[in-house]
Amino acid sequence: MKTYPLFLDGEWVESGPFQAVINPANGETIAQVSTVDRARVRGAIGDAHTAFESWRKLPGKTRGGFLHAIADEIEKRADDLARTITLENGKSLAQSKGEIGMTVDHLRWFAEEARRAYGRIIPHQVDGKRHLVIKSPMGVIGAITPCNFPLVLAVRKAAPAWAAGNTVVLKPAEQTPLSAIALAECAAAAGLPKNVLQVVLGDPAEIGKEFLENPLCRKVTFTGSTEVGRLLIAGAAQTVKPLSLELGGNAPVLIFDDIDLSRAVEGALIAKTRNTGQSCIAANRIYVQRSIYDQFVEAFTSRMKSMKFGDGLESGVEIGPLIDEQGLAKALSHIENAVANGARLMCGGRRSGDKGFFIEPTVIADVSPDSLCMHEETFAPVAAITSFETEEQAIEMANSSPYGLSAYAFTADLDRAFRLMESLEAGTIGINDGVPSTSNAPFGGVKQSGWGRELGSEGLDAFLETKHVSLGLNL
Ligand code: NAP
Repeated sequence: MKTYPLFLDGEWVESGPFQAVINPANGETIAQVSTVDRARVRGAIGDAHTAFESWRKLPGKTRGGFLHAIADEIEKRADDLARTITLENGKSLAQSKGEIGMTVDHLRWFAEEARRAYGRIIPHQVDGKRHLVIKSPMGVIGAITPCNFPLVLAVRKAAPAWAAGNTVVLKPAEQTPLSAIALAECAAAAGLPKNVLQVVLGDPAEIGKEFLENPLCRKVTFTGSTEVGRLLIAGAAQTVKPLSLELGGNAPVLIFDDIDLSRAVEGALIAKTRNTGQSCIAANRIYVQRSIYDQFVEAFTSRMKSMKFGDGLESGVEIGPLIDEQGLAKALSHIENAVANGARLMCGGRRSGDKGFFIEPTVIADVSPDSLCMHEETFAPVAAITSFETEEQAIEMANSSPYGLSAYAFTADLDRAFRLMESLEAGTIGINDGVPSTSNAPFGGVKQSGWGRELGSEGLDAFLETKHVSLGLNL
C-alpha cells in the first residue's frame, strides 16, 4: 500500500499519524496519507506569506501562464487522474473524466481572467481631486474542500486565488486527499513557484482554527456542509476573517405539463444521478404538475431502473457507491422515513451487496412535504417525487427551504420561464437544463447555501481587495 506525503515548503513531507484512504466500491484501504499538526499548518501559512510577496508582483499574464501550464499537466495525466478520483470517491470513470475536463476549463478560464483584474476611475466631485479604484490580491488563502468533487472544487478555489495574486494552503477532505496531492504534483511539474500551493491534512477543526486565527491567512474559502460552514462563521467572528462559503443545497425540480415528457425525464435524471447524486446541486425534490404526474413517475422510474450501478472502474457504470457508511445510512433513513410517511417505493430502496457503500437507484413517489428528504439533502441516487397543481403552488413549494443553491424547471412556456427565474430563490437556475454549471458564470448559494460566488468574473473578484485611492492634485 502506498504512503503519500504532503506538499509543504516545496518538499514532499511524509509524517504521521497517517490517515487511511478507503475505496468506497469495496471498503478496502487503498493508501495512507501523511498528516500534520497545527504548528506545521502555521508554518505553511508563514511560508505562503513569504511566497505571496513575489507572486503578487508578477503580471497577471505571467500568473495565467502558470495556470495554463498546470492545465497542460492535468491533461497529460488525465487517465491516471481519473482513476485516482474514481478510486477514492467512487464515481464512474466517465464522470471522473468529466470532472477533469471541468478542472482544465476552470484553470484556463482563470488564466485569462488574471489579465482582467480591472479597477476604475471615478469622476471627481471636488476640484483638485481624482479618484481611483484599484484591485489588490489579499494574501494567503486557506481553502477547505469536500469529498464529492475532490479535484475540481480544489481548483475552483486555487485557480482564481492564484490568478488574483494570492497564495494557497489547501486542506482537502479526509476521504479524498489523493486528488489534491495529484494537483500539487501537477503544479510542481508545471513549475509553479514554491509555496504558491501547499497541501495540508490533519485534524480539520485544528486546521480550520489556524486558518481563522492566523493573521497572515487573509481569507478562508470553504466548500462543504452547512453544518461546518456555521462553525467557520462562529470562528470567524473573533477575527472578522472574510469567508466564502459554498454550502449544502436542497434543489427543487419543477416539471410543468407543457414540456415534452422525455426531455423532462432526461433533464431530471441527470440532475438527480450525476456524481451518484452526491452533488450540492443534485435534484433533491421533484415536483410534477398533476396532469402528467403518473406518466412522469412511470417513465422516470423506468429510466432509473435502467441505470447501471457498480464499481466506477467497470465499463458502462453510470452510478457508483456512496462515499461512506454514514452517507449510505442517511440515504436509507430518508427512504424509510418517506415510506413511513405514506410514500410509494417505485424501485430500489435497499443497500446493494455487502462490500462497499452501494444503494440501489431509488424512486419514491407521493412523498409528503414533512418527510426528511424534502428538508435535508439526501446526497444519493434517491429521487423523491410529488405533485403540484398550479405554477404559484410550485414556486411556493420550491422556495419552502432554508437552502437556495440551485433550482431546475422544465417548461416550454417562455413567459413562465421568466416568472420562474425571477421568483425561484436559488443562486443557479437550470431552465430545461439539468447541468447548469459552467466556468464562465457565477456559482453560489442564497439563504443557508452560502456566501459569495465562485466562477465567472465574480470568482476572481472574491479573491481581490477593492481599494479607493483619492489623489490630491495641483492641476
Ligand atoms: P463536510 O463534512 O462539511 O466537509 C467539508 C470539509 O470541511 C472537509 O475538508 C472536512 O474535513 C472539513 N471540516 C470538517 N470539520 C471541520 C471543522 N470543524 N473546521 C474546518 N473544516 C472542517 O462536507 P462533505 O461531506 O465533504 O461534502 C458534502 C457537503 O458539501 C454537502 O453538504 C454538499 O452540498 C456540500 N457541497 C457544496 C458545494 C457548493 O458549491 N455549494 C459543492 C460541493 C459540496 P474532514 O474531511 O477532514 O472531516
